[in-house]
Amino acid sequence: MKNGRARTTDAQAERIAGFVDRLRVEPGSKVNLSKDFDPARTVGIKNKKEGREILRSGVALLADYQRRLAADGSHGVLLCLQALDAGGKDGTIRHVMSGVNPQGVRVAGFRVPSAGELAHDYLWRYTRELPRRGEIGIFNRSHYEEVLVVRVHPELLDRQRLPGRPKSRKALWRRRFREINAWERYLTDNGFRVVKVFLNLSKEEQRVRFLKRIDVPERNWKFSASDVRERARWDDYQAAFSDMLSATSTPWAPWHVVPADHKWYARICAAAVLARTLIEIDPHYPAIDDRSRHELELEKRQLEKEAPAGAAADPYAVKRRGHQGHGGDRRRR
Ligand code: ATP
Ligand code: MG
Repeated sequence: MKNGRARTTDAQAERIAGFVDRLRVEPGSKVNLSKDFDPARTVGIKNKKEGREILRSGVALLADYQRRLAADGSHGVLLCLQALDAGGKDGTIRHVMSGVNPQGVRVAGFRVPSAGELAHDYLWRYTRELPRRGEIGIFNRSHYEEVLVVRVHPELLDRQRLPGRPKSRKALWRRRFREINAWERYLTDNGFRVVKVFLNLSKEEQRVRFLKRIDVPERNWKFSASDVRERARWDDYQAAFSDMLSATSTPWAPWHVVPADHKWYARICAAAVLARTLIEIDPHYPAIDDRSRHELELEKRQLEKEAPAGAAADPYAVKRRGHQGHGGDRRRR
């Protein structure tokens, strides 16, 4: 899309904001994940076909905004994706970012921390992967694992060699929530928006997706025995997710719970959440002052003088005039 043209209209921006509001966890509210959110919901979109169209235009919109973000260079965006196994994080990243210039995106996945990572404070490894200004960073799993898998498996906490003993385990998670909120506040104040998406999968849909990973040979590599072990802790994870959503949905970095049983719907939701943030940032291509404009004109003269015999002084201007003569100002980049 052309400079200045692809900016969303107010009506589009409002529609996206309205759609995203439905996914937002109200800061300060108490969440009970399995009661409050339906993983199979597809509200706001008629069917998969309409969904495909919407996603296509959403992807184009994101690509345009990402160009602006890179040119503007004052903000970065961090998209944190959390989900249970088979929740669809990889596919969401692939689809949502499909139109975006790879140079402007940085994806980081987080697995069980290495010994080297464990020798640092728990946020260290996430800090190292943050986006720069002008970039969209994606965390495929994120610092939230530190209050999820580590909470469900306290033996992982022992490996972190924390000094002293908190009064209780509960007190420790409270402290982590506070630290994470403060860290995200710090990032936001300094120009880095933290966008948080939780892909909410039902237990039955997870079962079906695991079976598919077993039944289809090309998908076998995606399945691991630990997936089934974690599934057995379903209720513990639901409780940990509920607590995390209640404690860390803040005005500066709210959570979005995305219904994930229908992949096509989850992707639209994730794209909309990201688009909304970019629309709010409203990045601009840098404007040129009169002096720089004058210098550009001088450079242009010089380049025109260098035209070889028989060539137009400015072939691009000629082409552009041609386009304007044939049905107006066409798209150009
Ligand atoms: P998929 O959903 O496709 O299986 P994945 O994100 O699960 O992808 P894996 O390599 O299968 O990727 O798993 C990464 C594992 O690392 C997960 O089991 C996760 O719980 C674990 N992990 C991530 N962060 C931490 C952490 N801070 N402490 C301990 N384990 C972690
Ligand atoms: Mg896995």
